[in-house]
Amino acid sequence: MTKKPTRVRFAPSPTGPLHVGGVRTALFNYLFAKKNDGAFVLRIEDTDKKREVEGAEKYILDSLKWCGISVDEGPKIGGEYGPYRQSERNRLYNKEIESLLDSGHAYYAFDSEEELSNQRKECEKKGETFMYNWRNRLELKNSLSMQKKEVEMLISRGEKHVVRFLSPKDKTIETFDIVRGHSRIDSNLIDDKILIKADGTPTYHFANIVDDHHMKITHVIRGEEWLPSLALHQLLYESFGWEKPLFAHLPLILNPSGKGKLSKRSGEKSGFPVFPIKWRGDVSFEGFREFGILPSGLVNYLATLGWTPDEEAEILEITELIKLFELEKVVSAGANFDLEKLKWNNHKHIQNTKDKILVEELCVCFNEAKSLNEKLLIKAVGLVKERANTVKDLWGLLNYLFYDPIKFDEKSVTRIKKEGLEKILSAILLQCKSASGEEVFINDLKAWGEENNIGAGQIMMSLRVVLVGSLNGVDLQKIVSFVGLKNVARRASRFLGTNI
Ligand code: GLU
Repeated sequence: MTKKPTRVRFAPSPTGPLHVGGVRTALFNYLFAKKNDGAFVLRIEDTDKKREVEGAEKYILDSLKWCGISVDEGPKIGGEYGPYRQSERNRLYNKEIESLLDSGHAYYAFDSEEELSNQRKECEKKGETFMYNWRNRLELKNSLSMQKKEVEMLISRGEKHVVRFLSPKDKTIETFDIVRGHSRIDSNLIDDKILIKADGTPTYHFANIVDDHHMKITHVIRGEEWLPSLALHQLLYESFGWEKPLFAHLPLILNPSGKGKLSKRSGEKSGFPVFPIKWRGDVSFEGFREFGILPSGLVNYLATLGWTPDEEAEILEITELIKLFELEKVVSAGANFDLEKLKWNNHKHIQNTKDKILVEELCVCFNEAKSLNEKLLIKAVGLVKERANTVKDLWGLLNYLFYDPIKFDEKSVTRIKKEGLEKILSAILLQCKSASGEEVFINDLKAWGEENNIGAGQIMMSLRVVLVGSLNGVDLQKIVSFVGLKNVARRASRFLGTNI
């Protein structure tokens, strides 16, 4: 038998900005698909129109693109198994629900909200939880308890109704999950879930199964929160007589303390975003991009949440991750989000990234950067990137290469404020005029020091504070060459005028 081509899908609901947990799910699907020469499908699960948020679909597409996760089939891209938005697939759901109704695996239910709520209250009084299933379905208002004629009459009259799944009694459902292995679930714990809502649209469970089947999905890789749905989904496959895909439920991403799921609130508390890129909605949120994280850094870090590559190397590009990825090695334990580790990873990726690209990202973080000369900015980034953990750090590290320092670090100033500082500053000013160029400037200054019995160390420290505003910064010669003697002179005379 020839092996079926691997097809996986990422199936987000467009209810808001995509959380990094969703990005990790998309990434694992993508890595698995590419490792197996398969297809990565994006399906927008937009059946719940009340929860849909404008701009969310575009945000999902933009985020995946920024991360370098390319979609093979999906909305806007197309593909053999489209449309890829569930709201455009109603004809298929209508057809498939008919087949479940015909085979007796689904039935019509006419119970009103009020009736169901009364039932719930009754159960609560007895300390029980209400479940719509074999225990009580014949006492409720549905096509199993009513005469066929009555049912037909109600439907033709346009009476509000839903379609429910007929969950089996006393059956043990044996499930298998690639990450978690085998489990046994008692079907008596599963209620007769609604498959088609009163407005005629499908629920998540129904549309999800129908689409996975029709889109020929071979592996369902999704978040742990969907694990409780696995037994029901498996029953649905069996009811249709369809071969089911293999399932893998990925572990949760936990907040830094390890207590609870990583949420927007817990991210905010720890001072980092939980979205990949900026979200512009009623309320706007920054993403990791604006926080200064590179897509390769984020992707590399997210790949290690729940999976560890069998390789010493920790800094991996997406193409290397594809080669190493093994779904079987994903663990079930939740992974704490560790900002310091992400930053460390990002630092390494900054070193491997072209300066031109870093400048593009820098301009996303700082509008001001856009007005600077691009070539100079690229050069400056190259000079300072060694010390940057984030793209945002770059700005702080290169600022003095473009702007005269306004604030001077007190400790640094104290260290240079010794006898002779005025003399040094005057010499700097003089050398700026007489030196034949930036390359000889420092040597000339040192020679002047020797003649005047002033240590080179003191002179260099003073020059650094004048140029940078502190004792930090890259190699002095590089700074002088970058800013030019005219700027050195201006900074020195300003310093002389304000600090002395
Ligand atoms: N629409 C679901 C979600 O928003 C998809 C779950 C699944 O992958 O089956 O996460």
